[in-house]
Amino acid sequence: MKSQDSLALEDQFGAKNYKPLDVVLTRGEGIWVWDVEGRRYMDCLSAYSAVNQGHCHPKILKTLIEQSQKLTLVSRAFCHDQLGLFYKEICEITRSHTALPMNSGAEAVETAIKAVRKWGYCVKKVPPGQAEIIVCSNNFHGRTLTIISFSSEPQYREGYEPHTPGFKMIPFGDAEALRAAITPNTVAFLVEPIQGEGGVIIPPAGYFKTARELCNKHNVMLVLDEIQTGLGRTGKILAEEHEGIEADLTLVGKALSGGFYPVSAVLSNREVLGVFKPGDHGSTFGGNPLACAVARTALKVLVEEGMIENSAVMGARLLDGLKQIKSPHIKEVRGRGLMIGIELHPEAGGARRFCEALREKDLLCKETHKHVLRIAPPLVIKAHEIDWALERLESALTQN
Ligand SMILES: *Cc1c(COP(=O)(O)O)cnc(C)c1O
Repeated sequence: MKSQDSLALEDQFGAKNYKPLDVVLTRGEGIWVWDVEGRRYMDCLSAYSAVNQGHCHPKILKTLIEQSQKLTLVSRAFCHDQLGLFYKEICEITRSHTALPMNSGAEAVETAIKAVRKWGYCVKKVPPGQAEIIVCSNNFHGRTLTIISFSSEPQYREGYEPHTPGFKMIPFGDAEALRAAITPNTVAFLVEPIQGEGGVIIPPAGYFKTARELCNKHNVMLVLDEIQTGLGRTGKILAEEHEGIEADLTLVGKALSGGFYPVSAVLSNREVLGVFKPGDHGSTFGGNPLACAVARTALKVLVEEGMIENSAVMGARLLDGLKQIKSPHIKEVRGRGLMIGIELHPEAGGARRFCEALREKDLLCKETHKHVLRIAPPLVIKAHEIDWALERLESALTQN
């Protein structure tokens, strides 16, 4: 089927809740994807960091096929031989005590919200119905009703009222605002280490150290949403390592399956997850054998194939190269590992037109928050491929 025919079907039958670039992809391998006409592109979005391991990683694919032929789903009514190993391996790699598997990222966020509220009532003894969770403006934690209730993005919230109460919003990166917002009823501070959808916003140095101290002092759970920053994206297994802190709850998803399957998890360093008793929370597909097997291999290749270190080295190379580009459109280039944002001046007319220009140069990326070009290739990218991308980025940013 040709691109035009496929696009026409989408237009005729599909809901219009996305506005993708009009490229129709049919195959992927590593950092490369091909459209139905056979044209090759470098993927610099990585499905919002869900394919950190590269498209169709052969070892994850092998696990997917082998496990699908053995056992895919039993529900949590029965045990199976992949779950215990999944728990052990993800806890070892992320230095956590306990894990709870779900499917999408948003479900991991919802699970964490339930856990910290329950912890607040059962352990911290917050009066019934009074638990407060502090969040940051410009956040992105997913699209469920509760999660969009504490979004600061009008398009995500408006029209979906009534919203879920119990959230207090403060500016991101402002430790004093956090100090001022905490009350005896505060159960958690939910925050991204680096705001991804918000435009690759890196908080000031020391912010998370102070946040950690404030949370300790006031018995508030620090919940880090590492669904995008985690699993090697920033050059560490978890972005919290850059800050020298440990969260109480860490949320991972996206790359946890290397893009093969929706798998997410809540990781807990303290006893918060201990508040869940049998029947308190669940998911039919969460922690199923196929998900566990795929996630185990997805984690294994990240570590064994040196993808996390590669992310640090290649990210530095890319960031360096981008900083040398002389373009009147660039306001700032920032990033950590292979999570990089190029913020453009408002006069540049939005980042979307540069994504379209880059697509013509065989590089796919996506604007975020109108003026930021996000560059986040799979973590298997090599030095000469970084240089290939830099050439195209330079010409798109200087000639358009
Ligand atoms: C993508 C993302 C989510 C939501 O994940 P879904 O799998 O799309 O539900 C939550 N938090 C962050 C930081 C994300 O980047």
